[in-house]
Amino acid sequence: MAKQWAWAEQADQLNQVERLKLEQDGLDIINDIIHIYAKEGFSSIPEEKFSLFKWAGVYQQRPKSDGYFMLRIRIPSGLLTSQQARVLASLSQDYGRGLIDVTTRQAVQYHWLQIENFPDIFKRLGEVGLYSWEACGDCPRTIVGNALAGIDPNELIDTRPIVAELEKAFLLNREFSNLPRKYKISISSSIYNPGNAQINDLSFTPAVKEIDGEEVIGFHVWVGGGLSNRPHLAKQLNIFVRPEQVVEVAKGITEVFRDHGYREKRHKARLKFLVADWGVDKFLEVLTEIIGPYPTRGMDKTVGWNAGYFNGVHRQKQDGYYYVGLNIPVGRTSAEEFFQLADLADQYGSGSLRTVNTQNIIIPDVPKDQLDELLKEPLLQRLTPQPKPFTGYAVSCTGIEFCNLALTETKELMRRTAEFLDQEIEIDQPIRLHVNGCPNSCGQQQIADIGLLGGKMRTKEGMVEAYTISIGGHLHGDGQFNTQLKGRVKSDDVPHVLKGLVLLFKEQKQSNETFTQ
Ligand code: SF4
Repeated sequence: MAKQWAWAEQADQLNQVERLKLEQDGLDIINDIIHIYAKEGFSSIPEEKFSLFKWAGVYQQRPKSDGYFMLRIRIPSGLLTSQQARVLASLSQDYGRGLIDVTTRQAVQYHWLQIENFPDIFKRLGEVGLYSWEACGDCPRTIVGNALAGIDPNELIDTRPIVAELEKAFLLNREFSNLPRKYKISISSSIYNPGNAQINDLSFTPAVKEIDGEEVIGFHVWVGGGLSNRPHLAKQLNIFVRPEQVVEVAKGITEVFRDHGYREKRHKARLKFLVADWGVDKFLEVLTEIIGPYPTRGMDKTVGWNAGYFNGVHRQKQDGYYYVGLNIPVGRTSAEEFFQLADLADQYGSGSLRTVNTQNIIIPDVPKDQLDELLKEPLLQRLTPQPKPFTGYAVSCTGIEFCNLALTETKELMRRTAEFLDQEIEIDQPIRLHVNGCPNSCGQQQIADIGLLGGKMRTKEGMVEAYTISIGGHLHGDGQFNTQLKGRVKSDDVPHVLKGLVLLFKEQKQSNETFTQ
């Protein structure tokens, strides 16, 4: 049953999805999938119910008529145990044709699932504390954060307990399961912003403040970031939040979005539009009515942006221990590789893995004397800790292979392009390449050194897949989205055009200049 929300009184002004959410809370669909549709089959599902499937983490796979689904599984802050990794691998093997994609929100995705598979999938995930619930839909999605939480020499505090508290506060909480639109939370205490604070609806970044003569470690709070076709960089509120207050503040901000966010037009419903219209001062005023007064901002401790890359072998904050960052080319891996990763995590580490928002993975907690043996493992030939400067920094959304919203194919194009550039160009710095198959920006192209946005172009041969190219995006400081170059490039020409672009940069750059700074 859906709750009786205040906005129900203006039902005639609400969009179609909003009206559906008033009839049935999105979370109810989980039971319907298990107890009705999985038993009665694909043909029993009423068309209008598919938009609620997202609350179970389920999307229809392209083409919709074939009856296959995609499932997204939330992995808060990328924290995964080897036991969980094995369950993910076995489910992919049993139902998902062995494919596993790591996403730009540290989640994993399956494809090729059928409606009959979901009861067993949900059960086996739940047994190891993994959930697909609210990984999609108008609700708090996967909480992203520092993939190195707890082992990071560059973090002020270990954010793992806070991530767990946030997950507990939001997951399956019907107070927040009907938001105006998707809602993305990020929390990190690293001074290098691995949680991409500026592109989330709500973010917490490290800060300190002197309170009653004592230096307190806590967080600054950002609201209203998001990508898609009208990207906004988040803005900081003028408050300082102690670690134990994060959940209260997050709930308060979510309440503001729930009760004041726009529900008329889907494309203007994200929190970013409310923040842009109100400004941060008014937003904080309304928030203060809910959570009471908080101290003003302290000293920001973020000093730069590591773009979420941890390739290679690095020291942890625990003496004598190292983490090994592995590259998963364009985020696509397999059940077989996930089984092997779980084995390596047990054999060389502490039985844990970390997924990263650059679609990569980390094996943490490796003692120094185990490193050489780990680096000789055959799996690390493909998932290498020392990737080349293009392949190792290439991010791709799902694209037309499986996604109904896609205008273009993406993963294969990006794999091919990055490999070509690695063969053709010698360069002493990585170049971050991101591709989106449509403006929804799951591939986060606006923050890339070189971003590709898929679309269509008319040619003599008819309509073909083509890309706009944007350059110079980053999240240092307040962040800056990349700038779109004129014209479009046919898909087949992308590798050569990017080669020309990178060679031009290489030729003209000053000695220490990077692609973005
Ligand atoms: Fe699909 Fe567009 Fe997201 Fe790519 S960016 S996965 S094409 S919705």
